[in-house]
Amino acid sequence: MVIKTQGLILKQRNVGEKDKFITVLSRDRGVIEASARGVRSVKSKILSGTQPLCFSDLTLYEGKSSFVVNDAQVLESFYNIRLDIEKTALASYFCELLGFIVPSEEEAEGYLRLALNTLSYLCTDSRSPLFLKTVFEWKLMCLSGFAPDVTGCDSCGESDGEEFYFYPAEGVIRCRGCAVSGEQVRFALVKPVLAALRFMTQADLKRLFQFKLEEKALAYLNTITEYYTLYHCGRGFHSLDFYKNLPRAPQ
Ligand SMILES: [Zn+2]
Repeated sequence: MVIKTQGLILKQRNVGEKDKFITVLSRDRGVIEASARGVRSVKSKILSGTQPLCFSDLTLYEGKSSFVVNDAQVLESFYNIRLDIEKTALASYFCELLGFIVPSEEEAEGYLRLALNTLSYLCTDSRSPLFLKTVFEWKLMCLSGFAPDVTGCDSCGESDGEEFYFYPAEGVIRCRGCAVSGEQVRFALVKPVLAALRFMTQADLKRLFQFKLEEKALAYLNTITEYYTLYHCGRGFHSLDFYKNLPRAPQ
């Protein structure tokens, strides 16, 4: 059976001399693997459309156990990301996370839109990489069924106090009066950070990137979103380690 879909190429793995396997976040089938035959010869018509980080129109032949790429035409290459090592590293982390989290065999419109919107912003300089990492991690966890409840205190319902704590293991917040200390990891939330968590949880994909936070608060918010992501994935990611270990100019 031949299917037409659109997808973001998450990674590739060379096979033999001319073929490769690609992992794709497809609109209609979630994350799938497909073999691209003869793609590494210079004459291949599907060479560009099967490069990692390309968003492509795909025609796939669905075999018994895997897909074969019949055609792949680039819709968006996110070229500007490739010119910057920090952006490239961050995009690789996004791709690795998506490959791990998004299920197969179901439509993935929400995941795909989140990925494409984030990469589009990463292409421009209108949002910082750290801001995009924060928003992407949080919304990805929300989409994949780990949406925390940050509306009010998990114990008493208080929603407007001065001091709250976020408990990543349970995905809840508690007010100062109800906060339990002890062994559990928890993050103290000042008002702007809690407001940002609430906004990212509730905002649809159109509004998601429309908020601002000052630099220190953003760095702290990112500590929370990264911890939450890795905790619920139950693992670390090489691409994240690489991104974090990049030499950066002193601030
Ligand atoms: Zn409470």
